[in-house]
Amino acid sequence: MSRMTGVRSLPDALQVAVVGGGPVGLYVAGELALRGINCAVFERDERAVRATRALVLHSRTLEFLDMRGMADRFLDDGHRYRRYPLGAARADVSFSVLDSPFPNALALPQHRTTELLEDHALKNGALVARGAEVTALRQDFTGVELSVRHAGRTRRVRADYIVGCDGARSTVRRLTGVSAPRTVYPYDVVSIDARADAGPPQPWSRCGPDGMVLALPFGDGRWRLVLYPYVLYPYDLSSRDLHRHGRAAAPGPAWAEALLRRITGHDLALHDVEWLSAYRCERRHAAAYRHHRVLLAGDAAHVHPPTGGQGLNTGIADAMSLGWRLAAALAEPRHDALLDAYARERRCAAARIMRLTGAMLHFNALPSAWGHALRATVLTAVRLPPVHRYLAARLAGLRGNPERRVPDVPLLAPATPAPHRLFEALRSGGHVHLTPECGTPDPRAADVTLPMTTLRTAARRRPCVVRPDGHML
Ligand SMILES: Cc1cc2nc3c(=O)[nH]c(=O)nc-3n(C[C@H](O)[C@H](O)[C@H](O)COP(=O)(O)OP(=O)(O)OC[C@H]3O[C@@H](n4cnc5c(N)ncnc54)[C@H](O)[C@@H]3O)c2cc1C
Repeated sequence: MSRMTGVRSLPDALQVAVVGGGPVGLYVAGELALRGINCAVFERDERAVRATRALVLHSRTLEFLDMRGMADRFLDDGHRYRRYPLGAARADVSFSVLDSPFPNALALPQHRTTELLEDHALKNGALVARGAEVTALRQDFTGVELSVRHAGRTRRVRADYIVGCDGARSTVRRLTGVSAPRTVYPYDVVSIDARADAGPPQPWSRCGPDGMVLALPFGDGRWRLVLYPYVLYPYDLSSRDLHRHGRAAAPGPAWAEALLRRITGHDLALHDVEWLSAYRCERRHAAAYRHHRVLLAGDAAHVHPPTGGQGLNTGIADAMSLGWRLAAALAEPRHDALLDAYARERRCAAARIMRLTGAMLHFNALPSAWGHALRATVLTAVRLPPVHRYLAARLAGLRGNPERRVPDVPLLAPATPAPHRLFEALRSGGHVHLTPECGTPDPRAADVTLPMTTLRTAARRRPCVVRPDGHML
């Protein structure tokens, strides 16, 4: 395992430099190292950040983790959610309807997700350099030269490709000149992490005359309360307005508690408030995910409202999609088109997620008669089983994606001791050619020049080729 600290140990040359050691950068590095790629993660922070931020991992993300043999560790540490509440009694979206080995969402603070992904990346052989900030980059036809500031000195590092996973204010995106237009929604969101006596540890939500609250348990007595007030905060939370008016203008626990009381109609008695954040919702989408030898993934490429807890999940899906393609492009330049396909496919996926999170934000936060009419319509529709199933699958990341997901299936005559299931077979990082018990092979299998295993299943009538990210070729 290689965690680098001294500036002398920074490599001069790499196949891939990943900028940003958040969950997405570490996942990308784990994917590359799994395929023997010489890669390093450059992370500006000396130490891992302890903030919770993303709390919810959805079914599709748990499936991706299962495809890399990590799901059990995450499930051991997290707290399972059986449903997603919509603000009214008996109108929850139940995850039990999902066709997945993981018919639940998982609450796990982002710092723990990041730790587990860092362990995995290191175990696979990636380098993680902390306290290493990328300050400049220059591309030519054969690679990218980075300036990395580390321990007070700046070093030049050359890489064949770089992946910008450096978050919403991405330096890589800015230095590459890729625009990311920003749209601000006319809604504020208040997020509080605190201990509270808020009932059995499953998510719930309430709509009141002043807004909506969504309560998400950590499973250890702590809760995240996300408030969507119908009236905007007196200062513009999307601008520097607050800074001009000083700290006294910032929303504090007393103000948030009063708002919570007005929404729920009673006192929740919050204590040990760990984190309080109030912000104006926005979305931001990079105009391109690829600029020659620079690729973008995670928040560096897309930022959306927190509704439905989709941000981190979308970033991990980017990492699954990018890792095998980048490794293939490094092995053989003729696979370069796979990187363009990454950029197209994942940009389209994020645009769909933005439509979903935007619609959910209006559902949660739109005031006035329009808002109440919208909520009443959705709450009626969601009682219809097909609508219920569709919404559960969209939230869980199992539907509505441009990629065609292949569900986990048992394999016939499994090798000893594994794989017994498709997701286990994908752990090697290669393609899987899945054929029915006595059926013909998929003709597309003949065109695959990347590592591929042929396996049989009784659970499918038609053959297919499954990409290393669990989608159909
Ligand atoms: C309050 C809040 C709640 C959220 N809740 C959820 C949720 O429930 N579910 C969900 O899926 N998502 C949620 N999200 C979104 C989620 O946190 C992000 O989508 C996720 O962190 C994106 O991961 P990332 O690795 O792309 O970026 P980040 O986590 O932002 O990581 C980027 C990393 O890059 C580093 N970096 C930046 N610049 C440089 C540089 N120049 N050189 C080197 N390193 C650099 C940073 O230090 C950072 O460590 C939430 C976000 C917020 C703010």
